[in-house]
Amino acid sequence: MIDSQIDLRSDTVTKPSKEMRALMASAPVGDDVYGEDPTVNALEDKVANLFGKESALFCTSGSLANQLSIRLLVSPGEELVSETNSHIVRAELGAAAVFSGITTRTWVADRGLLKAEDVLNIVKPNSGPYLVSTTAIAIENTHNFGGGTVQPLSEIKILREESKKLGLKMHMDGARIWNAHVASGISLSEYGKYFDTLSVCLSKGLGAPIGSLMIGNKELISRARPWRKRYGGGMRQVGLIAAAGDYALDFNLKLLAKDHLRAKEIAKLIEDIAPDLINSETVETNIVGLDLSRYQISAEELAIQLKQAGILSSALGPKYLRLVTHFDITDKDIEKIKSIIPKLLKSALMAK
Ligand SMILES: *Cc1c(COP(=O)(O)O)cnc(C)c1O
Repeated sequence: MIDSQIDLRSDTVTKPSKEMRALMASAPVGDDVYGEDPTVNALEDKVANLFGKESALFCTSGSLANQLSIRLLVSPGEELVSETNSHIVRAELGAAAVFSGITTRTWVADRGLLKAEDVLNIVKPNSGPYLVSTTAIAIENTHNFGGGTVQPLSEIKILREESKKLGLKMHMDGARIWNAHVASGISLSEYGKYFDTLSVCLSKGLGAPIGSLMIGNKELISRARPWRKRYGGGMRQVGLIAAAGDYALDFNLKLLAKDHLRAKEIAKLIEDIAPDLINSETVETNIVGLDLSRYQISAEELAIQLKQAGILSSALGPKYLRLVTHFDITDKDIEKIKSIIPKLLKSALMAK
């Protein structure tokens, strides 16, 4: 990666700071497969407490934390329902089918925004001997491919209430729950109330190099532990990495507000040039998703032009380009973005 380029591809590109590295180097460690790493144990307790839950399990990735949750909530031959553009369905390479032997069915939501009714319309619990039975619902918060959408608590509450009556479990893919919490002011423990399991990532906007957690009650987490080992995710003196997550929670969580302001700023800049690319009011967190469907240019072509001008972005669909802010972006980068994007967009969008 050329360092002079401004990297807006994802918030996963953040690098551990000197302070974070120092804490990692000095972390007390033990064998975590024996449950003896004090730094991991402390992080698991801390994160469980933040969400008002009994227990948490340190995982190598968000995908593993999601997949362990699915493994425990949905039995082979049963069904998980999720939004059509959710990470679990689109970006985990069919892991739920491969490892848990389950099927998925999806609802469609504009910007991934949750409406309880959309979910309740498709769930089919206890479907008898011929049809697949739904046993769990997964909600992504914030919704990544939806453009960093914060899910409304009112809809989460309704969905929990109604789905509980049907005997359904709920999982939150909270890879970016930190962003939802900072943007909405809703506490993490409030979010925790409505879900049987949650997954959270320390390696996105929080800036740790590795690490995610699965969160739930004691019974679920103790059952997840052998599955983590079975999947090859049992780690040894991994307090070295857990320490980075601990640092991220203490020092980087509050920095997310700045990412959100900057994403809004970039969205407004783009909206001023081309209002049909983005509605800046929908940009609540650190993701700016551009809809190019009204223009000739493809997302890939625009990404190439941006790259030539020194800005890296992600073409996630033929007509969908994503820009993500994070704490390795400097004020100078923002100034550069402001000088580059308007001119570049004007000429790129003109070609019909
Ligand atoms: C990044 C992400 C994950 C987990 O990704 P890993 O690369 O496996 O850590 C899960 N869900 C969402 C919404 C994500 O953005």
